[in-house]
Amino acid sequence: MNYNDIANLIFPDVTMSPEEVIAKYPKRNLKEGQMVTRFAPSPTGLVHIGNFFQAFISYNIAKNTDGILFLRIEDTDRKREKIEAKQVLYDVLKRFEMSFDEYQTLDGKDIGDYGPYVQSQRNDIYKVFAKKLVSEGKAFPCFCKKTEGKEDVLKQRETKFVENDEREYDPCRDLSYEEIKAHIDNGDSFAIRLKTKNKGDERIVFNDLIKGDIEAKANAKDFVILKSDGTPPYPFAHAIDDTLMGTNIVVRGEEYIASTPAHVELFEALGFKQIQYCHNPLIYKLNDLGNRRKISKRYDPESNMMFFCENGYPNEAVYEYLLNMINSGFEIWRKNNPEKSWKEFKFKPSDITTVAPIFDLVKLNDISKNVISLLSGEKLYENWLNWAREYDKDLSKILEENREKFVKVCQMDRDGRPKPRKDIFNYQMMKDKFNYFFSAPISFNIADEDKEKANELLSAYRENFKMPSSNEEWFNEVKELAGKLGYATDNKLYKENPNEFKGNVAKACEFIRLAITGEKDSPTLFTIMEILGEDEVKARLNVKF
Ligand code: GLU
Repeated sequence: MNYNDIANLIFPDVTMSPEEVIAKYPKRNLKEGQMVTRFAPSPTGLVHIGNFFQAFISYNIAKNTDGILFLRIEDTDRKREKIEAKQVLYDVLKRFEMSFDEYQTLDGKDIGDYGPYVQSQRNDIYKVFAKKLVSEGKAFPCFCKKTEGKEDVLKQRETKFVENDEREYDPCRDLSYEEIKAHIDNGDSFAIRLKTKNKGDERIVFNDLIKGDIEAKANAKDFVILKSDGTPPYPFAHAIDDTLMGTNIVVRGEEYIASTPAHVELFEALGFKQIQYCHNPLIYKLNDLGNRRKISKRYDPESNMMFFCENGYPNEAVYEYLLNMINSGFEIWRKNNPEKSWKEFKFKPSDITTVAPIFDLVKLNDISKNVISLLSGEKLYENWLNWAREYDKDLSKILEENREKFVKVCQMDRDGRPKPRKDIFNYQMMKDKFNYFFSAPISFNIADEDKEKANELLSAYRENFKMPSSNEEWFNEVKELAGKLGYATDNKLYKENPNEFKGNVAKACEFIRLAITGEKDSPTLFTIMEILGEDEVKARLNVKF
């Protein structure tokens, strides 16, 4: 069979040779150990945490080896909503400060020498290699209707499918030149399929940087490499792009392990050096019954990276949580290096967990509390304001108009303290947490049996109230007053005979705190009083429980 004639018949417009294409993508000039990784998302309109996880691993591998990270948009099968979806993707990547050495800008300019960095602009390249495979008898045109990648459709048709056998040979694989020409003359559309060289009983071994050698059944299907619209399904585009673009580690989700044998066969058919894979584990969640399931777009809002933006989690908290999921050693490193940036934590692909990480919001919140506790009050205010500008306009106005006050609010029990408070895990919760700075409390967290005592104490307290000038002064005043009213001023005494007193000084302070904040627990009350100012404090002391 003259495969060259067939190739020319079905690709009359493809004139470039594979060598000419390869010459446009010179080998990268890398130093020993430098890794070239990429993030290759399909723009879907949201960025899933699993995809971001993969991007983050790639980012770290490149960073840790002084390597290169590029962004490749895999948009071959997403014609609709492409622009909007791309915008969402770029927006999320920008918010999470993912910086790429090479990429295409939103307005279509390639930054880097290995572009275009968008697959839908690379169709001519894929055709050159499809033609090459056809000319070598390794691929063939298939004229069956609707054959694109739909193996179930393929099975329903008359394939040379042998039962209990892995083979799926397409009926078009042996068409003669004349038969093909008749189809072409007839204007029939066609896809290109790889003519697998396997018989269905071969096994192969490929290496994965996380899991080591993986043994699997070799591919034995004539799968589609170019659809009838001229676009490549994932495997073909992956083999060509990652080879030409000089990727040396492909980090991708574990779900691709099953189809890797097909990719391995493609690399071989194309005469490409097999690329190194690093299949990262997928992120799971526990359901109410404690069973694992994949984190899902449908049920888990936190599967969408925007969740963290909308709720105001600092990026560092998200990165630190992801590092925690990537390698459990991070937690110990963080404990030993509380001041260091997460960027200084280095891991190798082989350090990545093989066990599927379970997403746990409580854990993220703990990490986030720690990250936020290390911010200065001023910085916390700025972050809170920036978040509010986007997600709560009314709040942002208040914060802006009362800058000095809210900087102080953010500084409470924080600046200069060896152990700053760790009670804020995102910016979204701050308005609720500090609601008593926005308006006087209207509900009070007080038990019914305490109300009478509290009213008595407050009425005595406000009688001669003047703003205290220090925390000590304030406390001593309350102590003195509480003593007069029958509260224990000595805690030891109180513990020995609790029934002889109305309570201890802490209880008296609690009543004042309740009047001012509505809560039993708060940052230092004196600081709160200072921020609120004398008039406001006085007004709040007038409450009757
Ligand atoms: N576009 C593919 C995806 O989003 C890329 C997989 C890969 O990284 O190779 O799943």
